[in-house]
Amino acid sequence: MASLKLHNTLSETKVEVDAAAEFRMFVCGPTVQDNVHVGHAKTYLAFDVLARWLLKRGRKVFFLLNITDIDDKIFDRAKKENVPYQEIADKFYREFLEDLDALNIMTVSRFARVSKYIDESAELVKILLDMSKAYRLDGNIYFDISKADNYGKLSHLSQYSLRLKQIDAAPGKRNSVDFLLWRAVPDAEEGIWQTIVGPGRPGWHIQDSAIAFEEMGGPYDLHGGATELIFPHHESELAQDESISGSIPFVNIWMHTGLLLKGQEKMSKSLGNVVTIREALKKYASADVIRYHFLKRHYKDSFEFSLPALETSKHEFKEIEMASKRIPRSDVGKTDLKTLTKSGEKILEDFSIAMDDDLDTKSGVSLLIDVSKKILEAKDQETDSELGPVFWDIAETLGFRLS
Ligand SMILES: [Zn+2]
Repeated sequence: MASLKLHNTLSETKVEVDAAAEFRMFVCGPTVQDNVHVGHAKTYLAFDVLARWLLKRGRKVFFLLNITDIDDKIFDRAKKENVPYQEIADKFYREFLEDLDALNIMTVSRFARVSKYIDESAELVKILLDMSKAYRLDGNIYFDISKADNYGKLSHLSQYSLRLKQIDAAPGKRNSVDFLLWRAVPDAEEGIWQTIVGPGRPGWHIQDSAIAFEEMGGPYDLHGGATELIFPHHESELAQDESISGSIPFVNIWMHTGLLLKGQEKMSKSLGNVVTIREALKKYASADVIRYHFLKRHYKDSFEFSLPALETSKHEFKEIEMASKRIPRSDVGKTDLKTLTKSGEKILEDFSIAMDDDLDTKSGVSLLIDVSKKILEAKDQETDSELGPVFWDIAETLGFRLS
């Protein structure tokens, strides 16, 4: 059997996924200050399909998704609504789980809430201080990027363009992109923890490294999220992971999904142009259609979220729905795959080749459409199509519920 290749942001090439028994992947989840939007759905659907494909190929998958439940946006909202911040975080975490469920994203093995890894984060900051790769400045602690192994290598930024960037701006930093590891918080504010590096709270990037060290224990297979996370978030995580562990690479494959745009801009809460998953499911399309709409493009593509385009997908998906009704899942036994005809075998082989080639779901769904057409044609001529098992095999691997 050929092997699965995925595009690695770090090497900018397609790399082979190794064949070890368990595949361990870590995907950056949402900040739970509000309901998540369809751009998030696009990202998590891509990783859900990756997990499904690996499972289908007989691999064990450990899929870790973190939840940022301590963040200024959460604290601000809590202050505005005059409730404890945990109330906001708990509510939107719960609703996020409902959203994943509604979208049939069922492959996540473990959800890691950042608030549970504060001491672990502080310990990593302490290690970096002890290694002189971090320094204190006005109560805060920063990572000194000049001490990392080639900071900028993930985002492919030259030293020159890095110098033009500014992260966590503060007077007195050694380098303009030295990023915050630990934030000292004024006493009156929410979200202060007493830790070995002092009172305060961890910066955004170190939280995820703490989760990775804790849950993965060491180097792991894949880390991912949307493209917008490459810099500075993942670049900084990479610098921390490799500096602390000495393992280069600490993460084998960095996988990033293209953005969902709205009016030529990325869909984001701060731009105020979001369509939440809830809203989309209620007003515009079923979970299967939304899945189809995203899977008919490559996960790396960035594209516009428009209602007319969604209508087109709805129309195209009807064919798949109709085929599923003509050959109900209950009529197709698991053993049927063993008695496939030549043409059935060929379709599954083509599907396999497409999915192995950097998860080409675009070809995958078009094969499903072809199979659906053949099933509907056969039924029109009142003959039985032998493609029922092929149809369901592909549909389930892609995560369609069809019920
Ligand atoms: Zn993250």
